[in-house]
Amino acid sequence: MSWRCPEPTCRCDNYDSDKTCQNPDCPTNPDNRKNDHWWRCGVCQKYNYMNQPWCEKCGASQDKAEQWG
Ligand SMILES: [Zn+2]
Ligand SMILES: [Zn+2]
Repeated sequence: MSWRCPEPTCRCDNYDSDKTCQNPDCPTNPDNRKNDHWWRCGVCQKYNYMNQPWCEKCGASQDKAEQWG
């Protein structure tokens, strides 16, 4: 089973085992952004999935990613 994020701007599906929304762009949980599955574009600040070698929004390569912390 899964649940859908109630946040109107998000609405992504999450597994029952997930206590919080797993979408790093979701405004409900900023901590989701600090995990190994995502990188943040240093040019446009969009969050992209790790297996995405370049930014979906601006096309910058992953080596332009911001460092966490
Ligand atoms: Zn969400
Ligand atoms: Zn970008």
